[in-house]
Amino acid sequence: MGYVEASDLKDLVLLGGGHSHVGVLKRFGERPFPGVRLTAICRDVRTPYSGMLPGLIAGHYTFDDAHIDLEPLCRFAGARLYHDEAIALDLAERKVVCKSRPPIRYDLLSINIGSTPAILEVPGAADSVVPVKPIQQFIARWEALCHRVLSREGPMRIGVVGAGAGGVEILLAVQFRLGRLLAAHGRRADHLQYYLFSDTGRILPTHNARTRRIFERILAKRRVRVLTGHRVVEVADGRLRRADGGEYVLDEILWATAARAAQWLAQSGLAVDDRGFVEVADTLQSLSHPNVFAAGDIAALVNHPLPKSGVFAVREGKALEQNLRRALSGHPLAPFRPQRQSLSLISTGDRHAVASRNGWALEGRLLW
Ligand SMILES: Cc1cc2nc3c(=O)[nH]c(=O)nc-3n(C[C@H](O)[C@H](O)[C@H](O)COP(=O)(O)OP(=O)(O)OC[C@H]3O[C@@H](n4cnc5c(N)ncnc54)[C@H](O)[C@@H]3O)c2cc1C
Repeated sequence: MGYVEASDLKDLVLLGGGHSHVGVLKRFGERPFPGVRLTAICRDVRTPYSGMLPGLIAGHYTFDDAHIDLEPLCRFAGARLYHDEAIALDLAERKVVCKSRPPIRYDLLSINIGSTPAILEVPGAADSVVPVKPIQQFIARWEALCHRVLSREGPMRIGVVGAGAGGVEILLAVQFRLGRLLAAHGRRADHLQYYLFSDTGRILPTHNARTRRIFERILAKRRVRVLTGHRVVEVADGRLRRADGGEYVLDEILWATAARAAQWLAQSGLAVDDRGFVEVADTLQSLSHPNVFAAGDIAALVNHPLPKSGVFAVREGKALEQNLRRALSGHPLAPFRPQRQSLSLISTGDRHAVASRNGWALEGRLLW
C-alpha cells in the first residue's frame, strides 16, 4: 500500500543549522520527499543570521531579529530536530556521534556547521580571548563586557585581533554600542581606547583599495589604533605579544581572525584541506565519502575556492538541496557554479555601511 515501513526509510541527516541547511529545510517543507526521514542536529536551536551580528552588537537589532528559530522550520519540513552538538563521525558505521544522545545513523549526511576563528595556534589565546564565534558564546561575553564598562571609571583598552570584514565590523559595532550605553548613563566614552591588530600589511586584505581607504579613514576618525603587519604570537594575562616583540596590555581581547574548522572532522577520517575544511567536489559531495555532503564555511570547494561568507552559504543551500534529492533517488548530481563576484556590505557601526564589490566601493546608510 502507500505506507513506508520505518526500516525502509532513508535517513537524511542535516548536521548543523547554518545558512545552507535553513534553505534545505525550507525547500523540503515546500516539496516533501516521501520515503525519506529528515533529521536535523544543531548545537543552537536559535541559529544566528551572520550578516546581522554586527547590528545586534551595535544595538540596532534584537536577538530575535538576528536569529532563525529552527523549531518551527523543522516542523514545517517534517524533520526531527535534535538539539545537540556533534563531536565525531563514525564514517564506517555511518553515524554521527553527539555529546548527549546516542549516535545517529544516516544514509546520507550533510554538514553545515560553520567555522570559528583560529585561536588554538596562538599560545594562551584559547584561555583568555573572546572569539566572535560561536556567536552564542560571544553574545554572553559581550554582555559581561558591557557590565564591566559601565561599572568602571578608569581607562579601558579593547583590542580586536583580525582586520578582515568581521573584525572591522565588530570593532566599530562595539565602539558604537559602548558609546551609546555610557551616554545613556550620562557618561563620556573618552576613556575607552580601541586597537585593531592584523598580520597583513593593510586592513581588509580581501577587499579592494577603495573599500580599504574608506575604512582607514573611518577608523582614524574614530581614534582606533590600527596595528598591521605583524602576527600576534602569544596572549597571557591580558598581555598581547606580536611577532615584532611589541607588547600591548588590554582589558578585553576580541578574536576575529581567519576561520578554522572543527578538529573532529579531520580526526574522523574525512578528506579535509590544510585548515581542516571538508574537501568537496563541485557537487558539494565529500572527496573521500560520497554519502557525505558539506556546504557553507565548513566546505572547501576544491575547484572554486570561495571566501567564508554567509552569502555563499545561502547560495550553496539551493544546489545542496537539489543534489541531496538526486542522491536520494539515485540520479546523477549537478555541479554548483559559484558566482565569481559577490557584493559585500561592511557596516560601520552606526547604521551605515560600505558596499564593496570587485573594484568599487560605495558608502551609504543601511536600510534597517
Ligand atoms: C562578525 C562577523 C560578521 C560577518 N558578517 C557577514 C556578512 O555581513 N555577510 C556575510 O555573508 N558573511 C558574514 N560573516 C561570515 C559568516 O558569519 C559566515 O560565513 C556564515 O555564518 C557561514 O554560514 P554557515 O551556514 O556555514 O554556518 P553558520 O551560520 O556558522 O551556522 C553553523 C550552525 O551549525 C551549528 N553547529 C556548529 N557546530 C556544531 C556541531 N558540532 N554540532 C551541531 N551543530 C553545530 C551552529 O549552532 C550553527 O547553527 C560574518 C562573520 C563574522 C564573524
